[in-house]
Amino acid sequence: MKNAYDILVVGGGHAGVEAALAAARLGKRTALISIDPGAIARMSCNPSIGGLAKGHLVREIDVLGGEMAKATDASGIQFKLLNRSKGRAVWSPRAQADKFRYEDYMQRVIKNTPGLDVIAGDATELLLKANRITGIRLRDGALVPGRICILTNGTFLRGKIHIGDIQIPAGRYGELPSIGISDQLKALGFSVKRLKTGTPSRITKRSIDFDVLEIQAGDPDPLPFSYATKNFHPKNIPCWLAYTNTQTHDILRSALDRSPLYTGKIEGTGPRYCPSIEDKIVRFSDKAAHQLFLEPEWEGSSQWYVNGFSSSLPVDIQIRALRSVRGLERAEFIKIGYAIEYDYFPSHQIRRSLETKEIHGLYFAGQINGTSGYEEAAAQGLMAALNAVRSIEDKTPLVPERHEAYIGVLIDDLCSKETSEPYRMFTSLAEYRLLLRWDNAHLRLLEYVREAGLQSAEMIETFEKTRNETRVLEKKYSATRILPGNPLQIPLDQPSALSLLIRRQELDERHLPLLREHYFPEYGVDAVDQAFVLTRYEGYIDRQFKQVEKMRQLENRHIPTGLDFHRVPSLSNEGREKLIKFRPESIGQASRIRGISPADIQVLLIYLQK
Ligand SMILES: Cc1cc2nc3c(=O)[nH]c(=O)nc-3n(C[C@H](O)[C@H](O)[C@H](O)COP(=O)(O)OP(=O)(O)OC[C@H]3O[C@@H](n4cnc5c(N)ncnc54)[C@H](O)[C@@H]3O)c2cc1C
Repeated sequence: MKNAYDILVVGGGHAGVEAALAAARLGKRTALISIDPGAIARMSCNPSIGGLAKGHLVREIDVLGGEMAKATDASGIQFKLLNRSKGRAVWSPRAQADKFRYEDYMQRVIKNTPGLDVIAGDATELLLKANRITGIRLRDGALVPGRICILTNGTFLRGKIHIGDIQIPAGRYGELPSIGISDQLKALGFSVKRLKTGTPSRITKRSIDFDVLEIQAGDPDPLPFSYATKNFHPKNIPCWLAYTNTQTHDILRSALDRSPLYTGKIEGTGPRYCPSIEDKIVRFSDKAAHQLFLEPEWEGSSQWYVNGFSSSLPVDIQIRALRSVRGLERAEFIKIGYAIEYDYFPSHQIRRSLETKEIHGLYFAGQINGTSGYEEAAAQGLMAALNAVRSIEDKTPLVPERHEAYIGVLIDDLCSKETSEPYRMFTSLAEYRLLLRWDNAHLRLLEYVREAGLQSAEMIETFEKTRNETRVLEKKYSATRILPGNPLQIPLDQPSALSLLIRRQELDERHLPLLREHYFPEYGVDAVDQAFVLTRYEGYIDRQFKQVEKMRQLENRHIPTGLDFHRVPSLSNEGREKLIKFRPESIGQASRIRGISPADIQVLLIYLQK
């Protein structure tokens, strides 16, 4: 079969979009196969991007040359930097998007990308020859030849919606599920499991009594997600806060015997961190109220999303329960909440490149790997495409380490941990949080940006300039003395080193514009800020780098592909079993797999030394 395409991307969700764009931009003939091209980049659940740790992922996607940050800046209707009162490590941007503008933006970019074809079709079968991808068969029988396939089917694989005792085969409400691929892969020996997630009702704006709700506005001085966005003046459309009450909880509790979650109709596990409302009242039964955020789905939207009220209870119960909330007594429902169950492939079956271990040229990215979230999906889509292109070009995979990026944490976790619930990124999953700040994605990933080849020369030059200026400024901050009566209006009796004032927190972020204006006018805003953070947290950052160094020796100890762990003597039974299952690529990765003990690691090290 003639290889018409280099790369086939199945699925036009958040993983598929980034994968297809990256592959085509890197010069590979790419086809994006999607059941409904009009639904490309659709936000299945709430119309928001970013948030804790997810905002970090979006920044990393942006510096590596992905599109999500730009699309968010172009379509956002409210922007907030979360956790601003806490330490830098956990600041994270979040935006409320106009979901139609977001889709339109992405679909336009895709349309205008040379070398990228969109094919409307339902991929039902992978075409294989000697364990290698040769193409895809569509439901209508058409064959699409290609040498690499990136599967990004999201929640569509044998998707099934639950509302009370009603079950509807679907990938999302009103969209057909994907049937064929997971059965084929199962037959080929892949392990396939079920997960579930859920979405709340959408109600009309006119039925909400805003007068009794709390307003939640965005930042008055919003910051963009993308380093490329200039002249940023987005809308600041508020969201609103409501609370459930004991009456709401009583209504929900009275119907638990009609909930598919509790009657056993749903086999898949849902996200613990994002539970349905019925799950919340069971697990946190002592709580008298839960927050509900009311969010517009687009600018001028008549349809509002009830964040926090995800449910699969029967329709009558969802309606009664929501109408018991103050401010929502007259709620008119446009869409009812539902849960969705779908197939996923436990991620021990992929390598760090996101290529499957069993089939050459087959990559998995997004929800199909057991993750949840647009940002997690987009990050994987981008990395899968980068590595697929590199495999065509005979280059080694490009994967940041855990201390370099949240993307590194995500991929390492996927390859070393077993997920029994949807995996979502949190700052707490990163052990080197202070190194992985939202504000320094461009500096910590600079070498990867160069190697990835997706970023413009001009942008790389800007990043390099910031890095060089930051280095100079760090030294200058130690050498500069601030005098009494200084223009920063810091009260001082005697001269003091600038670095000392920063560490003692007498000088904080609010002083930076004046600091730059009066002391370092020739340096960029970004560099002045970066040097400030590095000075403020110097001790902690140094300590984290020392930990990284200690771990590096283990990370660098490569485990040969195909090593027969049966032949390694003295491993514990569980350790051996896990090594065979995960086939880690380094000792560092092996050490993070649950069930592999420090003693197993020693045994392995000695074996490799021999
Ligand atoms: C009801 C619901 C609620 C959710 N709630 C949350 C939440 O609360 N929090 C959260 O973080 N995430 C939630 N998610 C998950 C979030 O939507 C996903 O994590 C994210 O969209 C995954 O991106 P993806 O690219 O992997 O897949 P999706 O965005 O699901 O996109 C999959 C794409 O693949 C296409 N496709 C599938 N199969 C085929 C095929 N065989 N042939 C061609 N095209 C195909 C589909 O048409 C679609 O375009 C929810 C999802 C749903 C459906």
